[in-house]
Amino acid sequence: MADEKKDTKEVVEKPVKEKKFHKENFFQRKQREHQEKELGKKRLSEAKALDARTPKICPPGIYVSLQNINKIYDNGFHAVHDFSIDIKQHEFIVFVGPSGCGKSTTLRMIAGLEDISSGNLFIDGEYMNDVAPKDRNIAMVFQSYALYPHMTVYDNMAFPLKIMHLTKEEINSRVMNAAKILQIEPLLDRKPKALSGGQRQRVALGRAIVRHAKVLLMDEPLSNLDAKLRVQMRSEIVDLHNKLNATTIYVTHDQTEAMTMATRIVILKDGYIQQIGSPIDIFAHPVNQFVAGFIGSPAMNFFEATYKDGIVTLITGEKIKIPSELTAGKTIPENIIWGLRPEDIHEGDGYHASLYPDAIFEITVTLAELLGNEYYIHAKFGDIGMIAKFPAENKVTVGEKVKVCFNPKKSHIFDPKTGVAIF
Ligand code: ATP
Repeated sequence: MADEKKDTKEVVEKPVKEKKFHKENFFQRKQREHQEKELGKKRLSEAKALDARTPKICPPGIYVSLQNINKIYDNGFHAVHDFSIDIKQHEFIVFVGPSGCGKSTTLRMIAGLEDISSGNLFIDGEYMNDVAPKDRNIAMVFQSYALYPHMTVYDNMAFPLKIMHLTKEEINSRVMNAAKILQIEPLLDRKPKALSGGQRQRVALGRAIVRHAKVLLMDEPLSNLDAKLRVQMRSEIVDLHNKLNATTIYVTHDQTEAMTMATRIVILKDGYIQQIGSPIDIFAHPVNQFVAGFIGSPAMNFFEATYKDGIVTLITGEKIKIPSELTAGKTIPENIIWGLRPEDIHEGDGYHASLYPDAIFEITVTLAELLGNEYYIHAKFGDIGMIAKFPAENKVTVGEKVKVCFNPKKSHIFDPKTGVAIF
């Protein structure tokens, strides 16, 4: 009994001690913040010095050019690092990445709502860094629709045009044209409170497009809508972009939006661009493990493994022969991460299994999510958790052992030290 009490006391005391040890006191916090601020100042002056040495030239044929754009906030936080992209007219560019990766900051720098710490921004060949937001000829749609509650739909859309001092006739023609494109003509006399979420978002889009701006910027415009409406508005926005022949830059954390809407995707992490490419290119050839895991739903499966002479050996002991066309000319380390997308795991008795009889293994189903036309099968492969996508025809039950074929031709290999994709 006495021993038991002693044990309990020890268990209770330990975490308290650890907590005390890690806790930052007021002075330590102030010191850290000061150091971060000083570091930020130093980085800023280095970046500005580099800027001064860089010629300000927009490449020919490029509509929006971001050249080594950095954002260092006043508290020293470096939110965006050397962001560079050349965007052609009529492209639909999507910035995507997890929360806090710097998407909105970059968009706000393009809009002029945030100062550019260093780097050059050009729109339609003009150097824009020092141009006021209202003179940049851009239109922006935000996540919150920010409609004026006391104004009708018509007046909400007409408002930015009144500020531009356009004639009554011109304002009317632009508003009516936008209302027609967005199919909100019957709503023009209503106030925002009498509209659904989707209708409000359409009005917000209308207010942006009446300005005939050179560039449309959108910051998570669909995240307040329910799932069904999001899908509908997704295609409406792409349609609108095509009708207007606009150049659009769209921010989202949703990889499905990025995949379905973009002509090119920019994937960000911690303020750094990870990859720029067409949706299909990024999906098929992710440059690193982060991109491979972020794009695609459900996410790519990753397995710890070793590689030797064209054979991947998983930590569970199974061996997979990798087609030589994938490995040719590649330097592959011994320790690797082997990646395979859920859609590249097939049933163990179908077409793929006949092509790759050496790649048939058994998995144990831990959860079977039926989505109508397909199953997401969560399973254990040895001790490793994984997900496969199967057609819904064959019923799958929890606990069942299922033969699967890992399509070796769709293998991805990553360096576990750097996360860089070897292929
Ligand atoms: P989310 O999807 O959550 O909106 P995001 O990718 O758009 O994220 P940003 O809003 O661009 O992220 O912010 C990038 C980073 O900059 C974040 O770590 C954020 O905390 C930081 N940040 C944003 N505004 C400021 C500010 N005014 N001062 C200091 N840091 C800031």
